[in-house]
Amino acid sequence: MTDLLELPIATLAQKVRRGEVSAAEVAEATIAAILRDDDRLGAYLTRSFDELRARAIQLDLRRAQGEQLGPLAGVPIGVKDAFATKGVATTCASRILVGPGGRPWIPPYDAAAVTRLLAADAMIAGKCNMDEFAMGSSTENSAFFPARNPWDDSRTPGGSSGGSAVSVAAGMTPGALGSDTGGSVRQPAAFTGVVGVKPTYGRVSRYGLVAFASSLDVVSPFARDVRSAALLTEAIAGHDPRDSTSADRPVGTYVAACERPLAGLRVGVPSQYFAAGIDPDVEASVRGALDQLASRGATLVPVSLPHTEHAVAVYYVLAAAEASSNLSRFDGVRFGARVASGGLDELYERTRGQGFGAEVKRRVVLGAYVLSHGYYDAYYLQAQRVRTLIARDFDAAFVDVDVIAAPTTPTPAFKLGDKIDDPLTMYLSDVYTLPASLAGLPAMSVPVAPTPATDARPSLPVGLQLIAPAFDEEALFRAGAAVERIVSG
Ligand code: GLN
Repeated sequence: MTDLLELPIATLAQKVRRGEVSAAEVAEATIAAILRDDDRLGAYLTRSFDELRARAIQLDLRRAQGEQLGPLAGVPIGVKDAFATKGVATTCASRILVGPGGRPWIPPYDAAAVTRLLAADAMIAGKCNMDEFAMGSSTENSAFFPARNPWDDSRTPGGSSGGSAVSVAAGMTPGALGSDTGGSVRQPAAFTGVVGVKPTYGRVSRYGLVAFASSLDVVSPFARDVRSAALLTEAIAGHDPRDSTSADRPVGTYVAACERPLAGLRVGVPSQYFAAGIDPDVEASVRGALDQLASRGATLVPVSLPHTEHAVAVYYVLAAAEASSNLSRFDGVRFGARVASGGLDELYERTRGQGFGAEVKRRVVLGAYVLSHGYYDAYYLQAQRVRTLIARDFDAAFVDVDVIAAPTTPTPAFKLGDKIDDPLTMYLSDVYTLPASLAGLPAMSVPVAPTPATDARPSLPVGLQLIAPAFDEEALFRAGAAVERIVSG
C-alpha cells in the first residue's frame, strides 16, 4: 500500500478524484507507514489519526455525491508543529505550550496555509517534530525527542523542520509543510534527499504560523519531486489581508513552469558558495550537476556575492532580536502554561525559566542585548545595514543571470550530538541558506547525486540550492525541474 504515498502528488490526487483509490485507503496507508517507521524516526509530535480518518470519510462522501474534488484530493500532509491547527495540539516542540500538567495548547483556528491545503482537499496526518520555536538546524532542540534521518538514523535530518522532511523522505506522506526562516526547509530537504521550496517572503500568508523572526519567516513546502512541490506552492500561495506582509501579487503557474525548456537559462555560480569548509563530496556532486546543466543548454555565469561571509552574523543578530520580541507573549498570562507563584515577576520568571529550552533562552537573551540601549546602534542597526548590502549583492547578480545555483549546505547530514553543544558550529552550518533569507528571495533545494559510501560514512543525500529574483518562483521551478531530469538520468 505504501507505494501510493510515493506517487507524484498530482497522480495520487487524480486517482482519488477518479475513484481509483479512496481517500480512506490513502489514510490507512499513511497510518500504516507512520506506525511502521515513526517510533524509530521521530517525525511526528502528534499523530492525528482520528481526524485523518474522519477527513477521508468526508472526502469520499463528497465524491460519492458527485462532487469534483480539488487538486490535492486525498493527499496526506504532515504539518510542522509551528502551525495552528484547529482542535489539534500545537506545541512548537516547546514545554511552554504544554505545561506541567501535560495539556498542550489546542488552537481554536487553522493557520492560513493549512486552510488553503484543506480547501484543495488535502488531509492532515499530524503535527511534525521541529526544533523548539524553529530555532536550530538539527531538530535536536525539540523539547521532546530528536527526529532521525531515514538514510542513517544516527544522523540528523536537519532542522528546524526536520520532522516534516522525514515524513516525506521516509514515505509517510507525499508532502509536508514547514517554515524557513534561515534555511529550515532547504537544509532538511538537502539532508534527507527531498525537495524543499522557500517561496519569496510575503508570497504565502504567515497567519497562524507561530512567529519566530517575522521579517524572515516563510511558509515552505516539502515534496519528493519538483512538480509536486510546485503544486503545493500553488495551493498555499496568495494574498491574505490577515498578514500585513502578505504580497498582493498574482500567483504564477508553477507546475507549468516545470515544463519550460532549460535551453537559454542563465545560471549564476557564486564563488563564495564553494569556499573553504565545503565537503569535497558535496562540492563534486553540485559541480557535476552544474556541468550537466551546461551540457544541456544552460549558460553558467560566474557571479560574486561579496557580502556572503557576513550573513551568519547578520542573521543571528536580527533573528534573535525579532525572536526576543515575538516570544515575549509567552509569559504565562496571555500564552504559555503558567507556573504559578507569588508575585508577577516571579510568575514570568518561573514560567519562562521552566518552559523554554536552552537555545530559546540563548536567543531571547542575545536578542534583548542587541536591542538594548547603547548596543542597538552597534549591533541591530549595523546588522540591518549589512542586510541591505547582502540584498544588493543579489540585485547586481540578477542583472546577468536568471537563477543562482550553489550547494544548499556545506556538508551532508551530520551525526546527532556532533554540534549540539557548540552553538557557533551549529550556526555556521546555515552559511549557504541565510543570504537568500535575508534578501527575501525564493529558493529551493533539489536533490543531486548522493555522496559515495566510504568507511567513514554511508552514502548521504546532497542538495543543490537554486535562488531566483523576488516573486520569480517560475524561474526556480523551471531550473529545479531541469536539475531533477538530469539527476534521474
Ligand atoms: N538554523 C537557523 C536558526 O537556528 C534557521 C532556522 C529556521 O529557518 N527556522 O535560526
